[in-house]
Amino acid sequence: GKYVLTFEEADPDDVKLIGGKASSLVLMTRLGLPVPPGIIITTRACREYYDRGEKLPEGLMDEVIRGVKYLEEKTGYKLGDPDKPLLVSVRSGAAVSMPGMMDTVLNVGLNDKTVYGLAKRINNEHGAYDAYRRFLAMFGRIVLGIPEEEFNKPLDEIKRKYGVKEDPEIPLEGLKELVEIYKQIFIRRFGKVFDDPWEQLKLSIEAVFKSWNSPRARFYREANKITPEIADCTATAIVTMVFGNADWRSATGVVFSRDPATGENKLYGEYLPYAQGEDVVAGIRTPKPIEKLKEEMPEVYEQLYNGVKLIEKTKKEVQDVEFTIEKGKLWFLQTRNAKMNPLAVLKTRVDMYKEGMITKEEAIMGVKPEYILQMLYPRIDESKAGKPLTKGIAASPGAVSGQAVFDPDRAVEWSKTGKQVILVREETKPDDVHGFYASVGVLTSRGGATSHAAVVARAIGRPAVVGAEALQIDYGTRIARVGDTVIKEGDWITIDGFTGSVYLGKVPTIEPKLPPEFFEFLDMADSVSVFEIRANADTPDDATISRRFGAKGIGLLRTERMFRAPGRLDLFRKVILSDNPGERRELLDQLAEMMKKDFLEIFEIMEGYPITVRLFDPPLHEFLPNFEELVTEVTRARTLGKPDPEKERLLARVKALMEANPMMGHRGVRVGITYPEIYAAQVKAILSAALELKRRGKHLEIQIMIPQVAEVRELEIIINNVVKPTAEEVFKAYGDSIEFKIGTMMETVRSCLTADKIAKVVDFMSFGTNDLTQAVFSFSRDDVENKFMSKYLELGVLPYDPFVTIDEEGVAKLMKVAIDAARSVKPDIEIGICGEHGGDPDSIKILAKVVGRGLNYFSASPYRVPVARLVAAQESL
Ligand code: PEP
Ligand code: MG
Repeated sequence: GKYVLTFEEADPDDVKLIGGKASSLVLMTRLGLPVPPGIIITTRACREYYDRGEKLPEGLMDEVIRGVKYLEEKTGYKLGDPDKPLLVSVRSGAAVSMPGMMDTVLNVGLNDKTVYGLAKRINNEHGAYDAYRRFLAMFGRIVLGIPEEEFNKPLDEIKRKYGVKEDPEIPLEGLKELVEIYKQIFIRRFGKVFDDPWEQLKLSIEAVFKSWNSPRARFYREANKITPEIADCTATAIVTMVFGNADWRSATGVVFSRDPATGENKLYGEYLPYAQGEDVVAGIRTPKPIEKLKEEMPEVYEQLYNGVKLIEKTKKEVQDVEFTIEKGKLWFLQTRNAKMNPLAVLKTRVDMYKEGMITKEEAIMGVKPEYILQMLYPRIDESKAGKPLTKGIAASPGAVSGQAVFDPDRAVEWSKTGKQVILVREETKPDDVHGFYASVGVLTSRGGATSHAAVVARAIGRPAVVGAEALQIDYGTRIARVGDTVIKEGDWITIDGFTGSVYLGKVPTIEPKLPPEFFEFLDMADSVSVFEIRANADTPDDATISRRFGAKGIGLLRTERMFRAPGRLDLFRKVILSDNPGERRELLDQLAEMMKKDFLEIFEIMEGYPITVRLFDPPLHEFLPNFEELVTEVTRARTLGKPDPEKERLLARVKALMEANPMMGHRGVRVGITYPEIYAAQVKAILSAALELKRRGKHLEIQIMIPQVAEVRELEIIINNVVKPTAEEVFKAYGDSIEFKIGTMMETVRSCLTADKIAKVVDFMSFGTNDLTQAVFSFSRDDVENKFMSKYLELGVLPYDPFVTIDEEGVAKLMKVAIDAARSVKPDIEIGICGEHGGDPDSIKILAKVVGRGLNYFSASPYRVPVARLVAAQESL
């Protein structure tokens, strides 16, 4: 027909036309499973209903009548027949699931006469009246719009009158009384009882159509970005009723084809004897675990198990199946892809692959990158947590501790001084976003899971608890209260974005336990990936974590911190302050010896994998005392009449090194050229460590990387005048040698535009997209987030923060230019990326699209390595 299809006629894949729920019924029908016969009113009819100003389309009811005749022929029951009544459910269901957002009416067709037919059919007058009183309440609420309490109150009264606790215990008389009371409600309001089954059916269809546009359904679509292209309107399935409340050998239940919490491959679910669908959801009575069914009705269990597994095999996804048993006969009522815990999703993909149900590619594509991230967030150590102070909504996962601040500007100020803060607000606005970046977590006292705070926190990956209503915040005094407990600004609190709990003080967190499937899965991902994943790791701890997470080497080892370690900073300051190259070399020799120890440790952990060590990068002034403080000290000494010549010299030197734009100043290779001893000392430390490990039989792949290069001559000078002679010196001293690679960072615009020249003199290049983004936009990477970025995002000037996700039209395009130029002269040159973008899923997607295999690897911070492995694999397929 034009609007109506039978389950046998419909195409289960045309979900847009018949809706998800009906599609599942059609599929199960095709699979030969016992599905109650049904017909579908397509979404087209609902669309026309709205296009015609909420009027049923011409001819629709004629088709429905024909469809019902078809059901009558198939079942032998007849709508309105007092002897053998056909009863149907009228179900909503759009192309995508909108759980609980639209309406469904059950038991349509019941009235004072047909209830006896039903009683005869199920051989149970009590069961029939139970269905009848449910129908009246549901029809009254959904179709006639009568408040639910009007039906619940008499129900409670009847239970009290007969002294029973649970609904099925109400005696037949009680049910009959209830039916009369309900009919009186209808009469009071509408002057009639709506006992014509055809009228019931028509009104129910209209109610389903209407529920598509209910405020909650509209809100849900908006919140979940369900556009008309995705789901246009609801379809309506009219399905023959079966009765889980026919007797005690009847039941209704829900099963998952695997455990949705753990992924374990066993039927998981529950059922409720003598009940209809809503009773399970409503949680009025406690259902029985599905294992019990195996004991009580082994044949039904067997049939259920086989059916559920057959659907799973067909859909290649874990299924969430609703079923009903009527007097010992099983019926499948609905199936859908199960919502599972991320860990369970991952285990299931691995298991299904091993079982041969899905291909490796399907396994890899079936896990969302967010799931991997979620699995890695630290969790509250429950054994040490104590009682939470209060609870809110778990809005963005992860557990963190920080000092409470009640104002986004203060959050920025505090974080600049190195404090770890949690932004606490009643609610947040777009103007507060700089505070999110500055905070480790966000806590609000108002708003829900889709509030501004929740959405932004998830978007930028900050744990968040929102709507903790017990929290009373006073911005004026910078104090929050929960009952008698006071949180002052600066007090430590801990929030758990998994559970919504808020704790006073610092609660220890623990690393999540990762199942073996986690690692197995990522190994599968690697096996299809055309990209390698390395890690940005500066310390032995970083290196260990990176290895555990499967990094294939270090793509960026920043060496700056090696100069700041205790006992070294003073030495290094002397180097900077000395204008005698001989003295500088001597001091640096001592430093080289110390740094060698750091390299030994990290290299050993990364044995067998490439290790990319970047030579000194930051501006020198970062290692000197603070200028303002020095001025104060010198001035004070002078006013006291006791000038300090030592301090005066230091001040003069600090002043001489000061720069207006240090990030574009004397740093990186420019330091290497003006203070070649510094780079020489680093090369010496690196190669000595490598040779000592070689002596111990370790195999090392050392890559030395030079930062901030803009002109190929810079590289030539460093390579020929510093790196090579130093290497010769070290090799001679050790009486041994080692091969190593020399490369450059690509983080200035000019290096990208001259990449062909640069490629000729290096073995590898690695894009430093942090600096490159700074350079391409001329945005200061250290200031942008606190100043104008949030406004830019709010106004849509930029679609996203280019320091988080790579700018496709500018930065990625420039990378493409550089890569093409480099490969035109050296096709096999190794090219990677080591900016923060290397661990950002969206950036990996963009780069895979823009430069594809032009890149060999992504280097990500240690905790981003797993997600980078997955996304790189997904982008390889
Ligand atoms: C970069 O600029 O992208 C980079 C990796 O170097 P850093 O962040 O240390 O400047
Ligand atoms: Mg850089």
